[in-house]
Amino acid sequence: MPLTNMTDMLRAARSEKYAVGAFNILDFNSMRAVIEAAEDLESPVIVQTSEKTVKLWGFRSIMNWIRDLADKTNIPVAIHLDHCKNIDFIKACIDSGWTSVMIDASSLPFEKNIELSRKVVEMAHPYGISVEAELGEIGGVEDDIAVEEKDAHMVNPQKAKVFLEEVNMDCFAPAIGTAHGIYKGEPRVDFDRLKEISHISQIPLALHGGTGLSEAVFKRSIALGCAKINISTQLKYAFIDGFVNYHKDYPDEYNPLNVINAQFSDLKEVILENIKLFGSAKKVN
Ligand code: 13P
Repeated sequence: MPLTNMTDMLRAARSEKYAVGAFNILDFNSMRAVIEAAEDLESPVIVQTSEKTVKLWGFRSIMNWIRDLADKTNIPVAIHLDHCKNIDFIKACIDSGWTSVMIDASSLPFEKNIELSRKVVEMAHPYGISVEAELGEIGGVEDDIAVEEKDAHMVNPQKAKVFLEEVNMDCFAPAIGTAHGIYKGEPRVDFDRLKEISHISQIPLALHGGTGLSEAVFKRSIALGCAKINISTQLKYAFIDGFVNYHKDYPDEYNPLNVINAQFSDLKEVILENIKLFGSAKKVN
């Protein structure tokens, strides 16, 4: 099936109250694990790439991998650029075949965030590419974007209303207390704030910082309009632990393909678990 953008899959998810997993891949093996897990569960899926990952492998390689894998499946697959502040880089992804992009101008003054997010929508929409934009600042480290705890701040619902009126985005990422990386204490999600945002508009919401959130938090967030859930750190752990644990179990075996297969199985297991939690299995129309 050809690659798709996120728009229809997220609208359906918000209206039917489930979420589509957006999984940050690291290489071909992890991309394969994401697509195979989604295919096994007949779920739509978002393959998410960070700017750093794209810079490591190159635009062409990533597009060749994803086109090859998506062509062999019957599930909707979107390829999305995660948090990006750099308009030129977003443009390069659009030109290279990404079907969805995120502009993260959340650290800039409100008016500037509106201006840049609008610019990205103008660049992307003529090509049928979906756009996610953020308001408030989500804490933690994602790629090259590090937001200290003291600088992270939650979205202001009045400002969110203006932001959504001014920017014709397809998915909105409001900062509601989740954070990227491993949570130090119990994550405190501001559900009242999320509820207020969900009443402002029917736009599908993105829940960032998915690693470490409980099933109850996922369920409540989905009920309040979160239609896209981002998972990155959990995959980084599976990627490294899958490799290291196999070598620990078979220290004398130097067969790289077995190690790669072990890593693949661990990654796939994590992705399967999340897709089941998000309720998107069997949601391929
Ligand atoms: P985690 O690293 O906490 O899974 O968050 C992922 C994310 O939100 C990517 O944008």
